[in-house]
Amino acid sequence: MRKPLIAANWKMYKNPTESTAFLTHFAPLIKHHDKAEIVLCPSMTSLPALVDAARGKSIFVGAQTMHWLNEGAYTGETSPTMLTAIGATHVLIGHSERRQYFNETDTTVNLKLKAALAHGLIPIVCVGEHLTEREAGLTANVLELQTSLALEGVDPAAAAPIVFAYEPVWAIGTGRTATPEIAADAHKIIRAQIAKSLTPELAASIRILYGGSVKPDNAQSLCCLEDIDGALVGGASLDPTSFAQIVTNAT
Ligand code: PGA
Repeated sequence: MRKPLIAANWKMYKNPTESTAFLTHFAPLIKHHDKAEIVLCPSMTSLPALVDAARGKSIFVGAQTMHWLNEGAYTGETSPTMLTAIGATHVLIGHSERRQYFNETDTTVNLKLKAALAHGLIPIVCVGEHLTEREAGLTANVLELQTSLALEGVDPAAAAPIVFAYEPVWAIGTGRTATPEIAADAHKIIRAQIAKSLTPELAASIRILYGGSVKPDNAQSLCCLEDIDGALVGGASLDPTSFAQIVTNAT
């Protein structure tokens, strides 16, 4: 059984005060909800305050990116051990905005994925095609390549915590959502690649989330499909009521 995971990606929104205020409103709304693992990914400066505020509430807190090394002369970066030291439990890896604006590549995604596993962080690895790639009929190739390169050299014995997120780039922040059919197809492709890169057993147990303009009113149709194990939510996760509705509708 794959437990659904619903993650909020707050991107560069919400300072520490705004982050903890969100939690004050959000936590009571999902108090009796135990069907999904809920993860909030705030900016780095909000992480410590949010980890403290979320203690005892069955809400996990993760980072939006990290470096793969433990320390070094890497101005502006945050290491896996710095994240675990403050109590972060999850980390987004290879979000398309990181790939597009900050030079994230399949190689750095792979290094970060291995570092997350080595340090006990749950990696949420984002893959997804651009619109031009979809229109050129390259979606399957892109998803297979991104998934296999992310998993290159990963020890199957250590791979169980990995989570993937299928995020078609053309659906992120655009209000355009993949149809349930498109999402279901993509998830099948990613799961088949996980089976090839790791093992069929891991492919059956690893969670694959959908992300890209998930809202309260489409969460159910997208996230309740057989191969879809939850959602990675950007814009609609910034409001506590809307994110709580997504949690409830998606699981
Ligand atoms: P969106 O973002 O929900 O605003 O489309 C999703 C994401 O970037 O993870």
